[in-house]
Amino acid sequence: MNCRALIDKLNEQKSLSHIEWCSLISGHDGEDREYAAKLARDIADKMFGKKIYLRGLIEFSNICKNDCLYCGIRCSNQNASRYRLSEDEILTCCAEGHRLGFRTFVLQSGEDGYWNDGRMTELVKEIKTRYPDCAVTLSMGERSRESYEALFRGGADRYLLRHETADKDHYCRLHPENMSFDNRMRCLRDLKDIGFQTGCGMMTGSPFQTAEALAKDMEFICGFKPAMVGLGPFVPHNDTPFAGYRAGSVELTLFMLSLVRITLPDVLLPATTALGTVDPLGREKGIMAGANVLMPNLSPSDVRKKYMLYDNKICTGDEAAQCIECLKRRVLTIGYEIVTDRGDHRNYISKSI
Ligand code: SAH
Repeated sequence: MNCRALIDKLNEQKSLSHIEWCSLISGHDGEDREYAAKLARDIADKMFGKKIYLRGLIEFSNICKNDCLYCGIRCSNQNASRYRLSEDEILTCCAEGHRLGFRTFVLQSGEDGYWNDGRMTELVKEIKTRYPDCAVTLSMGERSRESYEALFRGGADRYLLRHETADKDHYCRLHPENMSFDNRMRCLRDLKDIGFQTGCGMMTGSPFQTAEALAKDMEFICGFKPAMVGLGPFVPHNDTPFAGYRAGSVELTLFMLSLVRITLPDVLLPATTALGTVDPLGREKGIMAGANVLMPNLSPSDVRKKYMLYDNKICTGDEAAQCIECLKRRVLTIGYEIVTDRGDHRNYISKSI
């Protein structure tokens, strides 16, 4: 079957066989990508209209006990200048974000032991008390089921934990020996089971990635049915073992975004900062390929350069307000509009309104 027929089949059946995924991902050309992007964009327009949801990203600590080979804030990077925002600083970011129209706060960090269940739950409760009209998304890595339950009871609505790759051997080549694919998958299952709107995701073009690994990612996404998928290109960081590897391509990232949209029509799908880093118009192109979410940075300006997951990360010099204005303009030029809305996944009832 040619690639166009496979894309049509995916659109009709919302899944493909392993062999079909492999041949679509390894065999497509520019025209197939355009075909998939148009289909994906039409689906997103049907689901969400011309609306783009915003999430305010607060990078609240770059202290991390893990040593993921691709990541700039891995614990063995001695050149990373470490920081941890205080509770008050985080609440100040939320205040500014709320004033600017954000109704989702994404709290992202390395795996920093300071943020135990007690402290984190208190923080989430405080944010939800002050801003009951807002959703809180957490993205702070692997924790126990009990810990996720405590955070959920504290009021957190969503949790992002990219699976990174659904191929176990590939996973082992991206992570140190003390991290396991099985635990990552256990976390994702627990999160979804507890009731979080759960996000998984992967990088495109990460070292040792094959078309088969990406096929497994798509099969995993088909089965797991996440509420959100975080998907951006791998971008090398100079102080990591992967410094010498090339970044993932814009084209492959856009194609994968389109395939995710076609597979899960109602999924919340950001056009990522990494995509905007490898191409100045990456985020606009991401939207045109099926994305419907943007995640501008709400972190205080003085820490932004320290949350360097990869080299040349964009928007590290601007104020939050500037980021929003810039994104509003960018989105308007392609015929879309940024909305002030929690933007929950339609299968989940909002916990606070
Ligand atoms: N500690 C949290 C947050 C990690 S950072 C967690 O484990 O989920 C968020 C995401 O950034 C990661 O899941 C990874 O997919 C992405 N990332 C890290 N390093 C990157 C790199 N060099 N290029 C592109 N994306 C990267």
